[in-house]
Amino acid sequence: MRTKYNGLMSLVIAGSVAYDGVETPHGKVERMLGGACTYIALAASYFTPTSIVAIVGDDFDQEDVDLLAGRNINLDGLERAPGKTFFWEGVYSADMNDRTTLRTDLNVFADFNPKVPESYRDHPYLLLGNIQPALQRSVRAQMKSARLVGGDTMNYWINDFRAELLETLKEWDFLLINDSEARLLSGESNLRLAARKIVAMGPHTLVVKRGEHGALLFQKDRFFAVPGFLLDQVFDPTGAGDCFAGGFIGYLAQQGIDAASGSIDHNALRRAVIYGSVMGSFCCENFGVERFRTLTRGEIDSRFQEFKGFTEF
Ligand code: AMP
Repeated sequence: MRTKYNGLMSLVIAGSVAYDGVETPHGKVERMLGGACTYIALAASYFTPTSIVAIVGDDFDQEDVDLLAGRNINLDGLERAPGKTFFWEGVYSADMNDRTTLRTDLNVFADFNPKVPESYRDHPYLLLGNIQPALQRSVRAQMKSARLVGGDTMNYWINDFRAELLETLKEWDFLLINDSEARLLSGESNLRLAARKIVAMGPHTLVVKRGEHGALLFQKDRFFAVPGFLLDQVFDPTGAGDCFAGGFIGYLAQQGIDAASGSIDHNALRRAVIYGSVMGSFCCENFGVERFRTLTRGEIDSRFQEFKGFTEF
């Protein structure tokens, strides 16, 4: 495994930096650091140099800046605007497989017009977190040298911004969504057929996240399936999907894997799915971003090996 960083592996992430209110059967937190971009960046930062494009309000706490900066995340593209930071509130079901959104206050995010700093523009890796497809497109357009581009979306954009989303997806190498979103996007309930249709929309690689049940990797005529990592206890699944995305792209960036040559090593994608699963599982072990205060690369690599152990036959 390579451990030395260089500019060639640099990753840019765009998305929400937020405050979240979360209730799970294990407790309730009124306000804590969250946001898709935050989770993606924290996870990816264990693999590759990471830079973010996002917006926060003037209420954004210095200790949260310090947490991100402490993971060496480049914050040059973190805009500060007068007003409040994006706020999201959700409550989980007893088994934590379902989540109800109680509140989404866009706040400063409502007028977000992402500007990619000049210093990021030649970075080869780009991960577009779950934001309005037009904003994802704008960031993509500013990253002229990107060699591997992908992202996430959600039911709201699939239902209400479909045409805009389809235009956006045409320019992506991979899409990471959950199984219900894959069905909604494709109009197919059978996931294999759904994947075939989605791959025809643009991204040559589709990763379907299935929460505690693991993940599926699809390309045109092949797929790979992994189970979820069984934790003793799940405290808070918030951000697990985003941490999956961070581990996935972070690993590919670290390995220098890109799409510019026309094809990507399928085995590298498989390993990236495992690293994604590993990062998603760590995220669930504590509330919000707490686990990232202590997590080490050594723990990540041990869990990667454990995955090998229980899936090999
Ligand atoms: P996940 O659990 O991986 O789906 O990610 C949860 C994170 O997504 C939370 O930290 C929220 O702040 C953030 N989030 C929730 N809704 C939205 C939205 N509509 N746009 C952007 N980010 C969101």
